[in-house]
Amino acid sequence: MKKIKEFDFSNKKVIIRVDFNVPLNENFEITDDSRMRAAVPTIKQVIENGGSAILISHLGRPKGQVNPKYSLKHIVPHLSDLLGISIKFSTDCIGEEATKMSNELKAGEVLLLENLRFYNEEEKGDEDFSKKLADLADVYINDAFGTAHRAHASTTIIAKFFPVNKMFGYIMDSELESLNKVMKDVQRPYTAIIGGSKVSTKITIIENLLTKVDNLIIGGGMSFTFVKANGGNIGNSLVEEDFIEQIPKIYELAKKNNVKIYLPVDSLNGDKFDKDAQVTLSEIDKIPDDRMGLDVGPKTNTLFEEVITNSKTILWNGPVGVFEFEKFATGTKELGNAIAKATKNGAFSLVGGGDSVAALTKFNLADQVSYVSTGGGAMLEYMEGKELPGIKAIFE
Ligand code: AMP
Repeated sequence: MKKIKEFDFSNKKVIIRVDFNVPLNENFEITDDSRMRAAVPTIKQVIENGGSAILISHLGRPKGQVNPKYSLKHIVPHLSDLLGISIKFSTDCIGEEATKMSNELKAGEVLLLENLRFYNEEEKGDEDFSKKLADLADVYINDAFGTAHRAHASTTIIAKFFPVNKMFGYIMDSELESLNKVMKDVQRPYTAIIGGSKVSTKITIIENLLTKVDNLIIGGGMSFTFVKANGGNIGNSLVEEDFIEQIPKIYELAKKNNVKIYLPVDSLNGDKFDKDAQVTLSEIDKIPDDRMGLDVGPKTNTLFEEVITNSKTILWNGPVGVFEFEKFATGTKELGNAIAKATKNGAFSLVGGGDSVAALTKFNLADQVSYVSTGGGAMLEYMEGKELPGIKAIFE
């Protein structure tokens, strides 16, 4: 396996699959440039070590049609600012213009190609299209972790045209290194906290984690399906009736693997799903019929904190309450604080998934955990134990 840090890029044209799928407002201004900033070290490694960089990405969902709304030209000025050099732009990602501009590219220069998804071939993983992209360069780098679970042309198929000169960029390297610390080379005790609204979307992750963790904390809306399966009264709380019969199997798997499952013990209940709901407290299995559990209660916070601060590895995905409403944000905030405390005491903590990352940011805790995964869908599939095609393609 080639490593970006050690590779000699002298006079090499390097095609880099980046993730510049950034949010734009109606004036085509970038409202969050974190994905672009994250890609800078990889691009700089190439251009400061004698190579030239050809950047490829998707933006939005143009569905195989050329659509100016989704043009990557909107990000050119900001990318130039971030890199401190004027970057070039080709209005087509393949064809004459892209070929000519790539051929003329000099060491130290950066060329951005137009949105890959203006072609249907990108998402279909078309071989010809992949080869046309590959022909522009001598080296392939994949640094788009967020699309690593897709077997698209630019993320997976293209790699086969670089039998030797292919590698991960810095984002990919650090995502994989961090995910390995919670999936493979784990320090124990290992606690995973899975929250969020539904069991159905996370059942495969839970099953996979039960073969790896020592403690599994379940919180948020999904915990009520567990509580109901255990015979508790959950009032109007969120529940997935279809999944109740799966819960005993989860407990069986936990028993088999010696995993302790922790559910909330008390609940902050609202009279409606609303930021101004009236709040009452009850035991988790005694929620009145006209109330719904929207956050965990103080006893639960203490219990979860104890488990978390006694752990050496912590994985967190999904809030334990409706943290978007101030009145129901405490449980998620306390959980974040407990993870920060454990991290300070030497534990490795990984937080991932849109809502938990949003919660961390909201509570100013993002820099107090070991790693925040930006992967979204890719991270979830990795946690389900699936092999990601974009990763496999580099190893092959
Ligand atoms: P997910 O997308 O499945 O990770 O769920 C995240 C969402 O779950 C967040 O928007 C939370 O507001 C929501 N959530 C957390 N706890 C509860 C709860 N007790 N009842 C309803 N929704 C919840």
